[in-house]
Amino acid sequence: MEMYDVIIVGAGPAGLCAGMYTARFNLNSVAIEKGLPGGELLNTEGIEDYPGFEYIRGAELAERMENHAKKFGLQILNETVVGIKHHGDHFVVRTEQHSYRSLTVILTAGGTPIKLNVPGELEYAGRGVSYCAVCDGAFFRDQVITVVGGGDAAVEEAHFLTKYGSKIYVVHRRDKFRAQAILQQRLLAEPKVEVIWDHVVEGIKGNGEVDRLMLRNTRTGEPRELKTSGLFIFVGFTPNTGVLEDHVEHDANGYLITNERMETVIPGLFAAGDVRVQLTRQITTAVGDATTAAVAAEKYIAKLKDAMTVGK
Ligand code: NAP
Repeated sequence: MEMYDVIIVGAGPAGLCAGMYTARFNLNSVAIEKGLPGGELLNTEGIEDYPGFEYIRGAELAERMENHAKKFGLQILNETVVGIKHHGDHFVVRTEQHSYRSLTVILTAGGTPIKLNVPGELEYAGRGVSYCAVCDGAFFRDQVITVVGGGDAAVEEAHFLTKYGSKIYVVHRRDKFRAQAILQQRLLAEPKVEVIWDHVVEGIKGNGEVDRLMLRNTRTGEPRELKTSGLFIFVGFTPNTGVLEDHVEHDANGYLITNERMETVIPGLFAAGDVRVQLTRQITTAVGDATTAAVAAEKYIAKLKDAMTVGK
């Protein structure tokens, strides 16, 4: 079995950036991605906080990052990784189809949207319930749309949905958003938007398709029914670390703990982007992490190869 220098698991911004660097360092590098390269960029309509681009469509930035990494020789495989195991001086990465070996792994698998876990959520997924405004917003043209959450994603995506919906409700469990001020201001300036503060969604009802939500006031306990056709849920992400077969230190929410080289407790296993504990999750921080991880991986591999040569 071929021994790669680096296997990158996940080809979102962190994975593509790590791959751009490792390929450019002439390391034998492969990125394994279960979907299309680009990750969360593909679920984002427009980006205006990536330096050098006052505005760029998420899909365009994804394509540019992919082409850039490929230009330096990164190979991208379209397979689903199911296991990553450390075997002393190398790793075995298993996908649904094959097994691959490498000296290092950079885990850039991102996260999965958290579910509300309320009655009707599973039943109406794809029939009114969505976790991606860019993917599904257009289905709700001139209809009432409700967004749940109060972070950057909810506030940004609710603003994006104003281009489709006749009315946008934002249901948030507190009386304050946690999103960045600039995103809040832009959303609250939209006449179509009404925020329902201090409420949670307790149930989703309909007749084949969503037509109403059962809300509850978190202060008074009062129930309320809200007519809506689309429900977009943005209540955070959980990191995709389930493929790790060895114990890797993480925080209470499952985010991996790394040192300043982005290396986990397992030598040669690096983590970058949304899988890692950090203050904020931006494209800029993902590519920053990835740059550090790639440089650290290169140094790690050089040392390992030196030791192998000396040992011969
Ligand atoms: P987040 O920052 O974790 O926010 C999750 C939101 O959902 C919070 O407002 C939280 O309420 C609410 N929530 C959590 N569980 C809930 C439940 N069961 N029921 C109702 N509400 C619930 O997640 P995110 O917005 O997905 O963002 C994830 C990361 O990506 C963040 O670091 C964010 O900064 C980053 N991001 C950045 C941008 C950007 O810069 N443009 C865009 C998108 C995402 P509480 O506030 O009460 O806790």
